[in-house]
Amino acid sequence: MNRRAKIVATLGPATSDERMLGRLLSAGADVLRFNLSHGDLESHRATLRLVRRVARAQHRQTPVLLDLMGPRYRLGILPQGPLTLRAGASVLLGPESRAVDLPVDDPEFLDHLTRGERILIDNGLVELEVTAKRARSVAARVVHGGVVADRKGINLPDSKLPFAISGKDAKDIAFAVEEKADFLAASYIGRARDVEAIRTLVRSLGADIPIVAKLERAAAVEHIDEIVEAADAVMVARGDLGVEVPLHQVPVLQKRIIAAGRRIGKPVIVATQMLESMMVQPRPTRAETSDVANAVFDGADALMLSGETAAGKFPIDAVKTMAKVIVEAELYKLRTFQSGEVPRDPALPAGRFPAPAPRLLEGANLSGAIEIADVIAAAAVHAASKLEASRIVAFSQGGFTAQRLARYRPIVPTFVFTTDAQVARRIQLLWGTRPIHLEREVQHRDDLIEIVERELLARKYVRPGECVILLMGYPIRQKPLTNLLRIHRVRRSESAPVTRAAKKRR
Ligand code: PEP
Repeated sequence: MNRRAKIVATLGPATSDERMLGRLLSAGADVLRFNLSHGDLESHRATLRLVRRVARAQHRQTPVLLDLMGPRYRLGILPQGPLTLRAGASVLLGPESRAVDLPVDDPEFLDHLTRGERILIDNGLVELEVTAKRARSVAARVVHGGVVADRKGINLPDSKLPFAISGKDAKDIAFAVEEKADFLAASYIGRARDVEAIRTLVRSLGADIPIVAKLERAAAVEHIDEIVEAADAVMVARGDLGVEVPLHQVPVLQKRIIAAGRRIGKPVIVATQMLESMMVQPRPTRAETSDVANAVFDGADALMLSGETAAGKFPIDAVKTMAKVIVEAELYKLRTFQSGEVPRDPALPAGRFPAPAPRLLEGANLSGAIEIADVIAAAAVHAASKLEASRIVAFSQGGFTAQRLARYRPIVPTFVFTTDAQVARRIQLLWGTRPIHLEREVQHRDDLIEIVERELLARKYVRPGECVILLMGYPIRQKPLTNLLRIHRVRRSESAPVTRAAKKRR
């Protein structure tokens, strides 16, 4: 466990069979992503069940993240085939049933466009500007020309088009509920209320799946904080973001989004083109390795591979390369952090170990129990450093304490025990945190300490005599949030009971 930032790997034709899934996990993939913009649900179902089997065989807690397509707009079928658009020309967009230059799928969105707004086609390669509205069609001027073809994607960066859950997304959400997906990624989120709309639909189906809001719309940029508050995690979806906002703004937005997530302890995933050249060659470019390292320096919780693992020629090398670059960047961060060479992460308050940001405790409307758990997480990180403890070990029933611990970026590895298999999988996304699933319920504090210690020793995660910081909610039976911090020395001999009470019960 010498890597803290996690790796999200996207599955696809290159990585959907049992052998490749196994290799992907062994190489270091922590979270597996299904891109629902591609493929059909029945093949996703088969792969998802295979993932569960392979992960179980490797004793891994591997969460699956289902990435919804979102309300995407596309060209329809062009009657004359691919069309060359020249700058300055006028074109008409409308439903496929009409005699227009550019037929579109789902033409309702045209009603919401207004004069002067941009229409970007094929990842922004072609740019149009709306010049006039007609009944169910729109006239536009070509600003940047190029060739357009059937079904190419459309982005509307200036539009105030309201977010709507598409029919496809609704079906995919029902699928995610049926298959007990661990995370749902929501595309084209513009406001907090869009996240809430998805959450309401998920809850109406009797489930509660954490939502990763993808920040990729120009409209979302003005509302980063409210989206981060509403979501359970966020993704810097640099692919579409780089179409919707000028490309030179993407690096700064990446930093702003990560800082917003760090401030309130929501995990942030940095996505897209991280090792793009590894789609076709076994070694990345220097610029790509720097991009991966810089995402680590920015403070991302997780880094994502898309085409590299879904359809690339070197999916396993891509994961291994990313893992190596992350470890190197983290070692550098650790060394410079200890020697004070570079300023601390701007997302965190100054000082060696940050106290909870005042904003978090004042503004976030936290109940007393949450506040206590948060303070104890911060105290555990501080204690681990001061006492040179080798590990922080938490017993977290719902994953909340794990999330708070990750926010404080402890230098020592963090292990989180939970009796809920799905919580264990979800914890895997968190920075620097290894989940351990306890198969049976534990009723007493001393039994828990005994079990935790035995597990850690058996897996060689701790050595006899080491100091560890233990966190738990007490009394365990009542499942409270974390309210107890114990500074614990691991027993020196296998047979020695951990506590006097445990000895009595033996
Ligand atoms: C992105 O746009 O960067 C992204 C991750 O989303 P998708 O892969 O769905 O385009």
